[in-house]
Amino acid sequence: MPDQHIKISVIMDEEPERTKRWEGGYERTWEILKEDESGSLKATVEEILFQSKRDRIVKSTGQIRLGMMRHLFVVIDSSRSMEDQDLKPNRLTATLKLMEAFIDEYFDQNPISQVGIIMTKNKRAEKLTDLSGNPKKHMTAIRKAVDTVCLGEPSLYNSLNLALQTLKHMPGHTSREILIILSSLTTCDPANIYEMIQTMKSLKVRVSVIGLSAEVRVCTMLTRETGGTYHVILDESHFKELLLTLHVKPPPANASSECSLIRMGFPQHTFASLTDQNAKPAFSMALLDSTDAGLSLGGYFCPQCHGNYTELPVECKVCGLTLVSAPHLARSFHHLFPLHAFTEMPVGDRPDKRFCDSCQGELKDKTIFTCSSCKNVFCVECDHFIHDSLHCCPGCVHSQRTP
Ligand SMILES: [Zn+2]
Ligand SMILES: [Zn+2]
Ligand SMILES: [Zn+2]
Repeated sequence: MPDQHIKISVIMDEEPERTKRWEGGYERTWEILKEDESGSLKATVEEILFQSKRDRIVKSTGQIRLGMMRHLFVVIDSSRSMEDQDLKPNRLTATLKLMEAFIDEYFDQNPISQVGIIMTKNKRAEKLTDLSGNPKKHMTAIRKAVDTVCLGEPSLYNSLNLALQTLKHMPGHTSREILIILSSLTTCDPANIYEMIQTMKSLKVRVSVIGLSAEVRVCTMLTRETGGTYHVILDESHFKELLLTLHVKPPPANASSECSLIRMGFPQHTFASLTDQNAKPAFSMALLDSTDAGLSLGGYFCPQCHGNYTELPVECKVCGLTLVSAPHLARSFHHLFPLHAFTEMPVGDRPDKRFCDSCQGELKDKTIFTCSSCKNVFCVECDHFIHDSLHCCPGCVHSQRTP
């Protein structure tokens, strides 16, 4: 490609229709921020983080149609600015470490979805992994990418374009998503990025951005136009929280997206021992891609064509049937019926309760959370654990078991 790159200046542009978040918001932020006795802002920053977590729990309660079959491309900036050491040991290593956790969690909560990874540096974008439902493949690639040399500037345009080439072929009932982890404050684009944003919008690709440095106007535009979210991280734990809670959950389905029934197969794992006289070895289809193809005695057999696979979930290479394990699919059930938010109140409102009904910790003068159905009270930590990981109220489950 000839070197005809157009630089987009990101801070100089005027945006008349809406004031920038920091213009309207910073005065309010200063009102919220208070120093404690030692002059530290840590406590108030934690308070702001807590409040945003709380808002999300309250917001997630409600019946909406979700895009459960997701196709997501994660774009990871690997430009020079990823060498910054504000995240330890540097931004790239910290990001890749969090990506491993993200991939793990993503496939756990979205068992019938796929992910692909794109790296962008030196004005180019390259696929690290193709769109696939195999977490192991992504993990291996991410671990290898730790040695990547951070170079030059990222290219938003090239990254979006590369992701689009695959996403535009995905069926209409699935979600098309891109998540960009952007460290640089500039982007080097070979063509007009605003036209690209319109293309994304028309093809219903939802683009979200996590910024590692500061808010950038082109990203504000990009996420607003495509219906995605845009956050700038405060520190590493905030980064982790954004990735693992905000982007792991399936997004609300587009109002105009199609509905369709999907045929799925639920194969049973079969074992055959080497001593078994009747055991017939089968060629594992999963190994077709890798070099060490071979025969195996057991595995998951496609109920339609009897293709043999070593792992689930997978799309059958022979007949195209989606093969999943039933317990795994059931794990994503809670997204459709989220647990209601508990009522927040001062501990004085429940004089009968001195201990948390979950962890038995003393409540003292903390804020407590009450379940409206079973009236049990929980401490902050348990409230978060119940809503983020457990997805059911332990008090309600207990009262259902012991009438
Ligand atoms: Zn099959
Ligand atoms: Zn507790
Ligand atoms: Zn309850």
